[in-house]
Amino acid sequence: SENPADKNTENSRRQVTEAVFSFVNPKKTKNPEVLHVSQEMASALHISEEETKSEFFKNIVTGNEVYPNTKPYSMCYGGHQFGNWAGQLGDGRAINLFEVEHNTKNWKVQLKGAGETPYSRTADGLAVLRSSVREYLCSEAMFHLNVPTTRALSLSLSGDSVLRDLLYDGNPAYEKGAIVSRISPSFLRFGNYEIFAARKDVKNLKALVDYTIKHHFSHLGKPSKENYIAFFKEVSERTLNMIIDWQRVGFVHGVMNTDNMSILGLTIDFGPYGWLEGFDFGWTPNTTDSQHKRYRYGNQPNMGLWNLYQLANSLYPIIEEVDPLNAILEQYKLDFELKSLQMMKSKLGLFSSDENDVELIQNLEDTLQLVETDMTIFFRNLSDFSDANSGFNLIEKSFYDLENISEDVKNKWNEWFKKYAERLEIDRISPEERKEKMNAVNPKYVLRNYMSQMAIDEADKGNYTLIDELFQLLKNPYAAQPENEKWFAKRPEWARNKVGCSM
Ligand code: AMP
Ligand code: MG
Ligand code: MG
Repeated sequence: SENPADKNTENSRRQVTEAVFSFVNPKKTKNPEVLHVSQEMASALHISEEETKSEFFKNIVTGNEVYPNTKPYSMCYGGHQFGNWAGQLGDGRAINLFEVEHNTKNWKVQLKGAGETPYSRTADGLAVLRSSVREYLCSEAMFHLNVPTTRALSLSLSGDSVLRDLLYDGNPAYEKGAIVSRISPSFLRFGNYEIFAARKDVKNLKALVDYTIKHHFSHLGKPSKENYIAFFKEVSERTLNMIIDWQRVGFVHGVMNTDNMSILGLTIDFGPYGWLEGFDFGWTPNTTDSQHKRYRYGNQPNMGLWNLYQLANSLYPIIEEVDPLNAILEQYKLDFELKSLQMMKSKLGLFSSDENDVELIQNLEDTLQLVETDMTIFFRNLSDFSDANSGFNLIEKSFYDLENISEDVKNKWNEWFKKYAERLEIDRISPEERKEKMNAVNPKYVLRNYMSQMAIDEADKGNYTLIDELFQLLKNPYAAQPENEKWFAKRPEWARNKVGCSM
């Protein structure tokens, strides 16, 4: 074969050169069991509900059977981790099975946790139930929140146990192994391009960029230097749009390394992510990043830009011009200001322009951070705002310690509500219409960390009903669901310091 990947036909750990992927075989598992299926995703793939209940489906999505005439593979990529070049990383525990074409869309089907690959380095290629429940629920929740994201088709137990170091007590422990089947039009990451640039392999870098444009950016036309620039511009715009959506819903990714940045601007790799409870620009769910907080909520837009600089450097060898790349990166900064203003205005139900909008919003962000204030509840309840005098009562439920709020904080809120009330008068829109528009961008239900933790604890005991309950709830995050009012609530005190885990 001419294809260098054909020489890579086994799972052994190694440096893989001249190829963007290697063929691998998923690991057979002891006692596979499908725990949940996203029927929305299945139907987008033209798989019927009946079929998802079959033995064949189970074997495919747990890696126990290879779909006839397909050759599973893992991808080679590098990445900047926490600001440093890390060399070859690659799909250490992800295996691409095949593509599905349906309704003019092309989807890649990938297993996460199906055994070792050439890129597993020192780890085992496996995933545990805990992290798999988190990825499965969150990626589908993000989709229904209208945030660009990779998707999930199924969550399964492998039937094997996996050795892990539990973060909270440091002791090794066995956990249930699990496999998520993930779906995306492409799993290409910034790191796929970076690895070729790092190896000065311009030939394959160009081949990969040409492939990407042909299959995913075909509206840009035939590959050329101009189109490589246009490609970078579009990646930059999509990355920013995705991050603005994260900021809107209070999602903190936690590991924005360049190997976790999708070339399509999709949220990918749901590891130690978390949802803001108290609004706090300084918050990160990632306990391994608690000192520098590189990937904290307020820094996500900057980190997107930092990552785009790395991508620009990697594309330079086929563009050979600095100015157009710099102009795109400069534009990101301007667009960020503009789009985040627009996004915050939409959360506040403001649709006209006023010269004081930036100040009003900065003032709000400062006030929100005075005491611990639940972001989701605050913005959701704000859509019922009628006048400055009742403003504070309206948001009482969003304070974590209402009893101890000082007069000073109360006054600051009352001042802000006065300005907000004045500002609303400029907009020619009825309160009903404003409420409807605000409720379409301010979710009522998000996947709070304690919610997935409860589902994980139950699942660990063999009870999967809460996984389904949360899955169903999060299909309509913007709708009021009276029967689900219990999930429109602050994080309970027991869950205060329980954050996500990535393994
Ligand atoms: P992440 O921080 O999750 O993006 O992972 C960084 C790198 O480590 C990627 O190359 C992953 O594929 C790899 N990795 C993470 N967990 C495992 C695992 N359990 N087995 C093999 N590789 C892993
Ligand atoms: Mg990753
Ligand atoms: Mg990960």
